[in-house]
Amino acid sequence: TQQPRFTYEALPMRVVFGAGSLAQLPQEARGLGLRRLLVLSTHGQRSLAENAATLLGDACAGIFAEARMHVPADIAAKALQAARDTGADGCVAIGGGSTIGLGKAIALKSGLPVVSVPTTYAGSEMTPIWGLTEGGRKQTGRDRSVLPRSVLYDPELTLSLPVDVSVTSGFNAIAHAVEALYAPDASPVISLMAEEGVRSLAAALPAVAAAPRDLDARTEALHGAWLCGSCLGATTMSLHHKLCHILGGTFDLPHAPTHTVLLPYVAAFNLPAAPDAERALRRALATDDVPEQLARVAAELGAPRSLAELGLTEHDLAEVIAQAQSRPYANPRPAPADALRTLLTDALHGTLAH
Ligand code: NAD
Repeated sequence: TQQPRFTYEALPMRVVFGAGSLAQLPQEARGLGLRRLLVLSTHGQRSLAENAATLLGDACAGIFAEARMHVPADIAAKALQAARDTGADGCVAIGGGSTIGLGKAIALKSGLPVVSVPTTYAGSEMTPIWGLTEGGRKQTGRDRSVLPRSVLYDPELTLSLPVDVSVTSGFNAIAHAVEALYAPDASPVISLMAEEGVRSLAAALPAVAAAPRDLDARTEALHGAWLCGSCLGATTMSLHHKLCHILGGTFDLPHAPTHTVLLPYVAAFNLPAAPDAERALRRALATDDVPEQLARVAAELGAPRSLAELGLTEHDLAEVIAQAQSRPYANPRPAPADALRTLLTDALHGTLAH
């Protein structure tokens, strides 16, 4: 057997987890020495931002409720201006990956600390990865300064997350863990978190779909999302995330549904070259056929099944393949153009081969 060999660097994250933990926001802010926080949200989650502002009282500098998917550069500039105008000494990002991404963009440009309160399973709050979109191109990078100083996971805030979004957001999280298990910088600690994250989410998502307001199911799902997000923050992602980035960035496919559709196809391609990852996923999903199980659970929970449903066409595949090959990325096995074409054609039509 091969001797283990790894480097593990823990990220300095403070996590407060539990139903009702939003109420601890003022305490968290004080603990970080913050006195004037700008609260960030999407337009749709404005009332939640108002709740956070009320909790903060005098420590609230204002509300900026214009966060949008993929952090458009003009919105980030406007939010940064709002932070300056209100004299904010930090931000509270309350919402999904889009809102947390906006907090990170402000942190990147200004160094202002961010407290995150995630309300989806996307996992951005656990990563030093930022993104900014300008002129139709999404730029991403890693920078320690964008890591939230404190993260409040309150499952009560996820009770309102619609079932379809919950399911695809959950699969987005599972995808982080799958790729962390075969990452070039995988490590035993992260692999434990990945396996447990997948187990939690796979168990919780059917329960969430059956009873979206069940706090136990929501708590289990958020627990899994936290672990999977930590995996994303700690490792280098491979082919799956590369393809999703291209499909979202160039073809405007929706982020979480794209992850959900594509994951079983990439797993079927990669797992034969990653036996330890496959063993961990078999345990987590209690199955001998990981790709089939991922596809089946997603389909049973009503998720989209093909990239065509999300708007991709046969004609687009050449560009996806060209972009995937234009810059190198990590992967447990090489993915030449013909292999990518087979994988993407199957995912386009929703036909998982064995
Ligand atoms: P999102 O943040 O866009 O949220 C989707 C919609 O659901 C929004 O309209 C939001 O207001 C609403 N919503 C969120 N939580 C809700 C709740 N509890 N109840 C009701 N409505 C709610 O979607 P997302 O999937 O969380 O994030 C996707 C974005 O995050 C993408 O841009 C993606 O690239 C980015 N992302 C970044 C990282 C990273 O590490 N940087 C990781 C994952 C995702």
